[in-house]
Amino acid sequence: MHGKVAVVLGGSIAGLCSAGVLAPYFDEVVVLERDLLPADAEHRRGVPQSKHPHFVLNSGRRAIGKIFPGFEDALIAEGGLLLMPSMDAAYGEKDGWAPRKSSTMTMVYSSRILIERVMRDKVRELTNVKVIEGATVTGLLTVAGGLESGRVTGAEYRDSSGDEHQIEADLVVDCLGRGSSVNEWLAAAGWPEIPERTLDAKVTYTSRWYDLPDVGEQPDSWWWKHMVITPTQEGGIYPDEHEYLSNFFPIEGNRAIVCMGSWGLDMARKADAFETSVEKLRSPAFARAMHECEPASEVHLTRSTGNKWRRYDELQRPVVGLVPIGDAICGFNPFYAQGMSSAARSALVLSECLAGAANLDEAFFGDFLAKQKESLDVPWMLAMARDQGFECATGSEVVPAWRRKIMAKMSWPVFNAITAASREDSYVEETFTAVFNLDKSLKEMATDWRFIYGLLRYRVRSVLGQTKVPAGFDLSLDPPATDYSDPDNPVEPPTPANLSATA
Ligand SMILES: Cc1cc2nc3c(=O)[nH]c(=O)nc-3n(C[C@H](O)[C@H](O)[C@H](O)COP(=O)(O)OP(=O)(O)OC[C@H]3O[C@@H](n4cnc5c(N)ncnc54)[C@H](O)[C@@H]3O)c2cc1C
Repeated sequence: MHGKVAVVLGGSIAGLCSAGVLAPYFDEVVVLERDLLPADAEHRRGVPQSKHPHFVLNSGRRAIGKIFPGFEDALIAEGGLLLMPSMDAAYGEKDGWAPRKSSTMTMVYSSRILIERVMRDKVRELTNVKVIEGATVTGLLTVAGGLESGRVTGAEYRDSSGDEHQIEADLVVDCLGRGSSVNEWLAAAGWPEIPERTLDAKVTYTSRWYDLPDVGEQPDSWWWKHMVITPTQEGGIYPDEHEYLSNFFPIEGNRAIVCMGSWGLDMARKADAFETSVEKLRSPAFARAMHECEPASEVHLTRSTGNKWRRYDELQRPVVGLVPIGDAICGFNPFYAQGMSSAARSALVLSECLAGAANLDEAFFGDFLAKQKESLDVPWMLAMARDQGFECATGSEVVPAWRRKIMAKMSWPVFNAITAASREDSYVEETFTAVFNLDKSLKEMATDWRFIYGLLRYRVRSVLGQTKVPAGFDLSLDPPATDYSDPDNPVEPPTPANLSATA
C-alpha cells in the first residue's frame, strides 16, 4: 500500500486505466468525472471524439488487457469484430487496391463508446474504486508550490448541485484530457510553467455513422469489412478529396463509421456536402458501399487534433503528489491512432513504478516521468516524422523549410516501399507492424540492417520483374478478393484463443 487515497481527475480512457492500476496500491481510489456516465455505450459531452473511428494498437491492447484481464473477450462478446486487416480490409493505396494477404496483425474493431463502456464495467468490479459522476474538478490542493517541500495534496471539485468539495489525497492523477487546466493551476500555485512541444498539422476529421444492410443482404463484392483510401500522392489537378485519408470503419451492431480526414483542407460539415465529398474520392467503390447503407447520425467534424506534449519531465524538480496520464500530458494527431494506447501504456508505467517504490517521494515522481518519457518518445517520433512534412503545420516543432520539403517528399515513398516489401518479406512486415503498433521505435526500424536489406532486395526484385505479388489493382473497380497469402508460410487465423500471442 502506498497510501490511503488516490484521486483520479477524469473518468475516460486514461482515468479508467489509472483507476485500474491504482486499485491494488491504495485503500480507496476516487475518480472525479464531470459527466454523468451512461450505463450503456453512449456518447457524452466530455468525449466528443467518440463520434470518430478509434483503433486500438497492439501495444495498447496488450496494456489494457494487463490492466483489465478479459477486456478484449468482453469487447468481442459485446460485438467488437476481431479481424486481420491485411485479409479483411480493402486498402486503396498509391498503386491501387492492395493485394489481400494474411499477416501477423489482428485488430478488434468497435466504437469508442463501446471500448469505454467495457472499461467502465471492469472498473465497477473494483470494490475500492469510487467514481463520483457530475463532479467538475475546479483546482488542486497544494502546499509550498514550486519549493523543495512543495506537494500536490488533493483536488477541489463542484458536485452536480453546485456544492464545493475538497478531497485530500496521497496521489493525484491528471486524466482531464487535452483541455486539462492542471498546468495552469500548478503555475498559479507557484510551480514553474510546464514546457510544451506542439505541432498542429491542421488535421480535420469528418464522420457519419451508417447502418449496414443485413448480413445476408450485403453485396457479393463485400468480402471486405474495412475499406481505406489513402491520399493520391500524385502531383496534378484533382479534387481535394483525392488528398483525403478515408475509412469505412466497421463497428459493433452491423454498423460502420464513414470517416474522411485531411491535413489542412476544409471538410464537409453537412450531410449533403459529406455525400458529395464521398462521391469524389479516388475510388467509386467507397461511395457505392456508402449508398448501400442507411445514415444513422449527423455529420460530425473535429479539428481538435494537434500534437501537444506537456514536458513535465523537463521541470528541474518533479511535482510531488501529481502524475499526468493520457491526453492531459500528450495528445497526438489521431491519424496515427496512438492516444488511447499511449494512455494505457503510461498507466502501466505507473503500475510498475508503484510496484517498485517504497515511498511516493521526489525520486518516485522523477522515476515515473523519466520512464513515461521513454514510452511517449516512441509515438511522438512517429507523429513528428509525418506531420513535420506538412507546410500547413504550426507549433514549436516546425522544422526549417528545406527539411520539411525532404520529409514531405520522402514520407509516402518510404511508406509505399515498406508496404510493398512487407507483402513478400515477413521480416519487413513484422518489423513495420511492430513500429506501427508502438512495440518498436522508428529509430530501431531505421537502423535494422535486416529490415533495410529486405527493402533493397524487394526493390531489386521489382526492377527485375521477379516479385510474386502484384503491386496493386485498378481503383475504379471493386477491390479484388483474390488471396495472395504464401502457402509455405501460413498464418494462424485470428481467434480469441491466439490473440494474446499476436497482441
Ligand atoms: C478525431 C479523433 C480520432 C481519434 N482516433 C483515435 C484512434 O483511432 N486511436 C486512439 O488510440 N486514439 C484516438 N484518438 C485519441 C483519443 O481519443 C484520446 O487519446 C483519448 O481519448 C485520451 O483519453 P483521456 O482519458 O486522456 O482524455 P479524454 O478521453 O479526452 O477524457 C477526458 C475526461 O475528463 C473529463 N473532464 C474534463 N474536464 C473535467 C473537469 N474539469 N472535471 C471533471 N472531469 C473533467 C471529460 O469529461 C472526460 O471524461 C482520437 C482523437 C480524435 C480527436
